[in-house]
Amino acid sequence: MQLLDGKKTAASIKDEIKQTVDAIKLQKKRVPHLAAILVGDSTASKTYINNKIKSCKEVGFKSTLLHLEKDITENELIAQINNLNNDNSIDGFIVQLPLPKHINEERVLLSITPEKDVDGFHPINLGKMMIGLPAFISATPKGIVEILKRYNIQTSGKHCVVVGRSNIVGTPISILLGKKSEAGNATVTLCHSHTKDLKTYTLQADIIIAATGKPNLITADMVKDGVVIIDVGINRIDDNSERGYHLVGDVDFKNVSKKSSYITPVPGGVGLMTVASLLQNTLAAYQAAYYPKDFIEENLL
Ligand code: NDP
Repeated sequence: MQLLDGKKTAASIKDEIKQTVDAIKLQKKRVPHLAAILVGDSTASKTYINNKIKSCKEVGFKSTLLHLEKDITENELIAQINNLNNDNSIDGFIVQLPLPKHINEERVLLSITPEKDVDGFHPINLGKMMIGLPAFISATPKGIVEILKRYNIQTSGKHCVVVGRSNIVGTPISILLGKKSEAGNATVTLCHSHTKDLKTYTLQADIIIAATGKPNLITADMVKDGVVIIDVGINRIDDNSERGYHLVGDVDFKNVSKKSSYITPVPGGVGLMTVASLLQNTLAAYQAAYYPKDFIEENLL
């Protein structure tokens, strides 16, 4: 079994980004700038946002955190988003999910201008990804593709079983793996909570992507020898430690790792790749890689 080391792989990506930023600084140009909106006080969300801000510092990006009260109205939040849409000093921004129940997440995500949507959640970016046009790819699916590539794991002709079909992970990664492209050309089965007898599918998989939020859903009896495992799940399990919890994925790592050829750990796997991909997307936004200025003026304004 070989560990798919998200920490090491994300560190190399950050190094590459830092070199580009160092070159930008040498030219005395402004550096890429990521903004993040956090609504409320969820400790998990705060941890995710802090990691993103810390990573910006590591690569030399500027970052701005807008921490808003949990009872902010939907319209007030959208007004803040419009400010960021119109702020030329900000290349990209994210709204940390989940949002409080009284706010319509879809309406909020739709209000983010696609060329600053570095999380890749806007339908324009999802649609462009779908038909193979350059676009911001959601950070987690992008990170999964990147770690597969960097470990030279072939997807062409393989059977990939994706468990979970959310708009931010399961559905986009299933599309990417099935596309006629590098790190694509797989035969993909997309499973979800209505799938009958999940094990029938996972036992046939060369590659399993687990993204359900159900701790230890994938057990050793559900996988074949030599399987590649990408565990996206981040689940907090309460314990008596000082922190009061530990993290596990959707895969029973201890036992499944004995049968797998490659496996991502939790923590130390996909989560770190997600942050690295967000930085890559922010750099691409700065470079106007996917939305050159004339495209924006002709198509989006
Ligand atoms: P969602 O809750 O949006 O989606 C969960 C998906 O899992 C749904 O499609 C659901 O099916 C499916 N599902 C739930 N139970 C089962 C089951 N028993 N068998 C098969 N499918 C099941 O979750 P997200 O995609 O947002 O997140 C999934 C996990 O990944 C979470 O633990 C989250 O914390 C983590 N995550 C990690 C990231 C990272 O950077 N590592 C980034 C984003 C998320 P249905 O559609 O039928 O309800």
